[in-house]
Amino acid sequence: MPIYTLPDLPYDYSALEPAISGRIMELHHDKHHQTYVTAANAALDSLAAAREGGDFASVVGLQKTLAFNLSGHINHSVFWQNMAPGAGGEPAGELAAAVTESFGSYAGFQAHFTAAATTVQGSGWAMLMWDQVGGRLQVEQVYDHQSNLGTGNTPLLVLDMWEHAFYLDYLNVKADYVKAFWGVVNWPDVAARFAAARG
Ligand code: FE
Repeated sequence: MPIYTLPDLPYDYSALEPAISGRIMELHHDKHHQTYVTAANAALDSLAAAREGGDFASVVGLQKTLAFNLSGHINHSVFWQNMAPGAGGEPAGELAAAVTESFGSYAGFQAHFTAAATTVQGSGWAMLMWDQVGGRLQVEQVYDHQSNLGTGNTPLLVLDMWEHAFYLDYLNVKADYVKAFWGVVNWPDVAARFAAARG
């Protein structure tokens, strides 16, 4: 019984051009994201079979597979919503105030997040998180989909730095991809996530 399903993109494949091409968006959503959804469901099924059979030798591997693929599903689901055609600019209202309080300035946040994105070693993500315990925003640099994360922090703005996210458009020039990303950030979506996380 599949638990996780692939969400539709909230815009056409080519809607974010020229920041991100339709070719990348179609492959990224329909192939890469779908694979994480399928594999997360398969891992849940395998864990259920292990429980039913009393065979827990496979659990350590299955838990790692579940964490990787479920996190991949969640990260991409946030990522699509974090972008919108004709978006960009800067956050407003309470989110803007929290950015200033947590990072000193919007410029300081943007530079920090950009550095986290462009210095990922291998595959990973840059993320703006709400830290419930500290009551502040944090930038995190995530490896694969789920390593190097603070437990319980809530993703507000995420940027996929796996090569499949940019290589067809930008080759090795990560900085240009990140620069283009700032031009399509859907700050109202980020602000809604911020309000929900704090509420
Ligand atoms: Fe991806």
